Amino acid sequence: MGPGPSDVSPRVLAALSRPTIGHLDPAFQDLMEEIKAGLARLFHAPDHVCVPLPAPGTAGMEAAIMNLLEPGDLAVICVNGVFGTRMVDMAGRAGAEVIAVEDAWGTPVSLDKVEAALSGGRRAKVLAFVHAETSTGVRSDAAGLCALARRHGALSIVDCVTSLGGVPVDAAAWDADVVYSGTQKCLSAPPGLSPVALSKRAVAAIAARKEKPRNWLYDIGLLMSYWGGEGGRTYHHTAPINALYGLHESLVAFFEEGEQAVFVRHARMHESLVAGLEALGLEMLAAPEHRLPQLNTVKVPEGIDEAKVRAYLLERWDLEIGAGLGPLKGKVWRIGLMGASASPWHVRLCLTALAEALAAQGFAGARDAALAAADARLGA
Ligand SMILES: *Cc1c(COP(=O)(O)O)cnc(C)c1O
Repeated sequence: MGPGPSDVSPRVLAALSRPTIGHLDPAFQDLMEEIKAGLARLFHAPDHVCVPLPAPGTAGMEAAIMNLLEPGDLAVICVNGVFGTRMVDMAGRAGAEVIAVEDAWGTPVSLDKVEAALSGGRRAKVLAFVHAETSTGVRSDAAGLCALARRHGALSIVDCVTSLGGVPVDAAAWDADVVYSGTQKCLSAPPGLSPVALSKRAVAAIAARKEKPRNWLYDIGLLMSYWGGEGGRTYHHTAPINALYGLHESLVAFFEEGEQAVFVRHARMHESLVAGLEALGLEMLAAPEHRLPQLNTVKVPEGIDEAKVRAYLLERWDLEIGAGLGPLKGKVWRIGLMGASASPWHVRLCLTALAEALAAQGFAGARDAALAAADARLGA
């Protein structure tokens, strides 16, 4: 129950163990088409090119930045947590000039600041931001930010690694250009794949580059010789066959449950967990209106050794939660309710274990009150 990987369901684990076949086997090519269609549905991106890159979420970030930016291009990048900082580093490596728009960790990206940055003298080629900041548990206004990018003639890059599958992601409604994610968060598949969606505008911008992208594996033009399928597939890299079985199965499970049902489940488990944590005497970091249901950032109470609490949970309860990063190091815990880990059982497990770990350090929160508040919230 940390910031990912989340629990992988038995059906996805079973899919991973199917026999490995060739990456150009006709049966596998059928599966590739189903995965592309599933991703297009998941991203709400019927007119985007959707493919899973053969590496974790950071691959999507790297592909977006390295394909869209060339030396000398201007990029406006929003930083309100760890992952915005990583995008700034990558854009610099691509040779771009970067304007970083900074907001305090624990708050969303400010549209006013982004508007001001985009209104500067020179046209920005790219606006990049993180939809769901996993380091803080905060959601930013993706629709508003993509609209600003459009108005200023910039291509948008949206990090949906933690948001996809937990809260609505709608590439078509946002008119977003490159949206990327990872499999180990709300999709509840193992880490190792990065689904991406690219708009027609993004594909055209990549085709119009003056020089080739500087990384070969994620060069979208080359990659599509394998994933595109039109006019026949040719070898580009050996696809991670079994990992793709797992992604396929997690997409099937997602649509069997139903998109709205999945989002409602995440929201309900979040409300239940927060009710329990507050009854225990703990406080959330983010303001209620910006909170992500799938990533709950809880303040460490005064006088508590936070690392000891995490060690206790792992040793006594086999339960992992996340630590704070950067300026939040030592100050918060990050509790994931992602995908298969968003269940009443997980909420109760976490509250029970956390109450016990805190009590071991003399903290006076009552476990029974926490469980009662969590259950009451679920109507249980
Ligand atoms: C986890 C995460 C990433 C990086 O994904 P990896 O799979 O660890 O490479 C990027 N952005 C956000 C918002 C994340 O939560």
